[in-house]
Amino acid sequence: MRINPITNNNFSYAKSTKQKSFGNIHSDVSVPEERNLINLNHLNNTYSQVGINFKGAQNTSLALVQQLPLEDRLASLFQNFMIGDLILIGKDLKTAKKAMYQSAGLLKNVIKRAFFIPDEKIGGNLGFITIPTGEREVINLNPEKINLISNNKTYDLDPNDSFYILKDDVLDLKGNLLKIKDEPKTDLSFFRKNFSTSFNFENSVTPEIEKINKKAIASLAADEKKRPSKVTFADVGGQEKLIDELKKSIIYPIRYPQGYQNIDVNHGFILYGPPGTGKTHIARALANEADAEFIQLNGLELESKWVGESEANWRALFDTAKESQPCVIFIDEFDAVARSRDSQDEYGNKVVNQILTLMSDIDNEASDVYVIGATNNFKALDSAITRSGRFGKHLEVALPDKEGIGKIYDIHSKNKPLDESISKEDIVKRLFDLKASGADIRYIINEAHNNGYERAGIFEKMENKTLKDSDISEFKILPEDFDKAIESFSKSKNINKRNPIGYNK
Ligand code: ADP
Repeated sequence: MRINPITNNNFSYAKSTKQKSFGNIHSDVSVPEERNLINLNHLNNTYSQVGINFKGAQNTSLALVQQLPLEDRLASLFQNFMIGDLILIGKDLKTAKKAMYQSAGLLKNVIKRAFFIPDEKIGGNLGFITIPTGEREVINLNPEKINLISNNKTYDLDPNDSFYILKDDVLDLKGNLLKIKDEPKTDLSFFRKNFSTSFNFENSVTPEIEKINKKAIASLAADEKKRPSKVTFADVGGQEKLIDELKKSIIYPIRYPQGYQNIDVNHGFILYGPPGTGKTHIARALANEADAEFIQLNGLELESKWVGESEANWRALFDTAKESQPCVIFIDEFDAVARSRDSQDEYGNKVVNQILTLMSDIDNEASDVYVIGATNNFKALDSAITRSGRFGKHLEVALPDKEGIGKIYDIHSKNKPLDESISKEDIVKRLFDLKASGADIRYIINEAHNNGYERAGIFEKMENKTLKDSDISEFKILPEDFDKAIESFSKSKNINKRNPIGYNK
């Protein structure tokens, strides 16, 4: 548990916050005088011994330095304790390090410098950090609770827990007390090296921080650019008739229910046509235009996922849709769930019947739920589905004509650096001859972009880390980049016979 005591902007220490928000307040306890950690009578003695020793031989035994009260050694480090610093106290560095490693999640910032103060008497491991607000925190690196005595109150500090500390607080490790001071009794700055080991990671950490920050700033800009503008009908090319139909059948009934009180509204649609013609794209745009919830499913996946529980799952799906009306359920590869089966296929027939029952509920309740099944293979659909009024509208999504190709080309090349020498007319003609779908057109434009990068050596510069911003800003896609993209598309089309098996208008 860690409670930030800051309650206002001037970073004043609000001691009372600690008391209010900290759960485990024991009864008031004052620090017993006789348990003071250090026998202060020895202090002057020790200091002068160390001083003499340093001034003389410039070396001193660790044992001697350790006789300096821990509170003073700690306070001396506190005098120069910055954000990014970590102080570890423990019997030996190895155990302290291990304990700190496990509590690394408590660190609020990158560690640039670490200091280790060896001390046996304290009987445990402690970590100290300065948090970004400028306050100090102690981290309990012990497997058991320690106590923090502050303003005559005692607080529990669980293992692996951190808590802010103030001047005059006392940490209690099973009876060993450590007082928090801002400065040591005597200036120890000259001896710091002798009672603590310091590690400086600044050289390795700073470039790393720069890298991370640059990445963050770069992705900030990317986010801004990429902020997904919702797909709308303006992003669909060459399907005007279909869009017009969907507006009248779905969007207007959702927007103007008062106009549809005496009209039977159709809730089930089948979109059919070759792959890549934009069936999914259009359904998504439709949901956005209608400001409706969009649930996208794939028939093939449902078939394999919902085995045995199909009926219950279909019911749950429709319930969810009804709860979030208006809602568009889009089922791609609809033929996988609603394909024609022989009458022996009890399971398949059950699913189809279940879908039809749920659809008739939607019709009867006049819910704002619209189910769009998409298929490349209309003929494969169960006639119980296609003939019933439940999926009453069958809409073809055909390959685009020349005009449509032109529009789709414009949509997908809108933000591309096209050279002026590119002839749109020529490309449109070639795409039409190749019977390219919307998805193909998008693919070819992106391939042309990639080919251009290859030609201009941009990928190479990315690899060599020599890419300049001007390389991108001055780059243009040339006709030859399109030639290459169209050529390789046409080859793959011939090889793969891209028309779906069984596709029949
Ligand atoms: P389908 O569902 O018919 O197989 P998709 O909707 O998945 O086709 O099409 C894939 C991608 O191709 C879409 O996300 C879109 O970017 C692009 N696309 C397809 N058809 C069109 C179109 N008519 N207008 C604009 N882009 C299209």
